Amino acid sequence: MPKRPLLMIPGPIEVSRGVVAAAAKHPSSHVAPGFIEAMGRALENMRRVWLAGADSQPFALAGSGTTVMDMAVHNLVEPGDQVLVVNSGYFSDRMAEMMRRRGAHVTEVKGSDGSDGFFVAPTVSDVEAALGGRNFKVLAATHVDTSTGVLVDAKGLCRLAEKHGVLSIFDGVCATAGERFEMSSWGADVYLTASQKAVGLPPGLGLMVASARALEARSALSVAPPMSLDWQQWLPIMKAYENRSPSYFATPATSLMAALDVALNEMVGDGKSMDAVFSLHKRSAEAMRAAWQVLGLELLPKVPAEVAHTLSAIRFPQGIDGQLMGAIAQRGVIVAGGLHPKLKASYFRVGHMGDVLLRPQDLERTVRAVGEALNALGHKCDTDMAAQAMYEILRKTDR
Ligand SMILES: *Cc1c(COP(=O)(O)O)cnc(C)c1O
Repeated sequence: MPKRPLLMIPGPIEVSRGVVAAAAKHPSSHVAPGFIEAMGRALENMRRVWLAGADSQPFALAGSGTTVMDMAVHNLVEPGDQVLVVNSGYFSDRMAEMMRRRGAHVTEVKGSDGSDGFFVAPTVSDVEAALGGRNFKVLAATHVDTSTGVLVDAKGLCRLAEKHGVLSIFDGVCATAGERFEMSSWGADVYLTASQKAVGLPPGLGLMVASARALEARSALSVAPPMSLDWQQWLPIMKAYENRSPSYFATPATSLMAALDVALNEMVGDGKSMDAVFSLHKRSAEAMRAAWQVLGLELLPKVPAEVAHTLSAIRFPQGIDGQLMGAIAQRGVIVAGGLHPKLKASYFRVGHMGDVLLRPQDLERTVRAVGEALNALGHKCDTDMAAQAMYEILRKTDR
């Protein structure tokens, strides 16, 4: 067995060799010409990955996904505003709490409570019904909630927000660069993520793109955000780097930013399109699901269209419990436990995003580790057949 375990949790994820090499270099000055070039290019490439318009603004800063969630909330919302949160799990709860702390009046549209052991997201029509109720300023949703493995209909929600004249924030932390999202053509206002998920870096950068409309909403605020999160502080800095000139407000994480440049170049450099990235994630997810099915496993999301492509949230079969994660780790693969407050003891999670998808043998290693661990704990299943089912899907859709 290889010494280094394979990291198959929904972030941090396995990253490319190029990213490891970039992140491991001696730190650079934040105003060195080479660094300015790398950060400027990374910001430009963010628009390509986000499929965002030329008038949108990318922001990349030291922090985690939670940092940029707070950034979105504080720049679009102020005390007294009405906001609507489409709640599909643990991270939607977090977004709602952030809005409350900012002094907003929060209406949540919730999915199922999980009492049947499965999870269903709120429907677009539930959201539409709620939107009619008040004069909402912002609609927030979690593109993929990592706690439930549920993918929401982001395009449908964007359309709704536009129709009702409401700004939209999408937490894409477990989705961006894995699930299709067309910021400009769908009309989203903020799409945010963190470096350690499908973008494929170590943790430590918060990444977001804001629409021109979102930037105007910041200008109209009467209660300013905390300085370190304020778009008005950061905007001239991001623009300066894009114009390849030095600028300072707060020191960028130079090593990670250099690694971001490498990761985004691998993704969309040389005119490559995001279509290939999205379809790689979709195909890989289908292959993993075929394997889970052979192993006799069921997913937490109840509705097939709501199953995320970046991770699998898998219910423990009869007689299996949280010991499973340790048994899988003993076989050299790290997976994650449950996270949804009510359901967390009933399922586990396997991330499948980013660089690892280019190595089917590592996907196979994951399937085999899960299958063998299940057998060891008394759930009899056919690991060879599961691996075969996985390869069949990978081959079929390759053509
Ligand atoms: C991981 C995650 C977050 C939190 O990101 P951190 O980098 O841990 O702060 C937020 N939302 C979603 C959907 C996530 O998957």
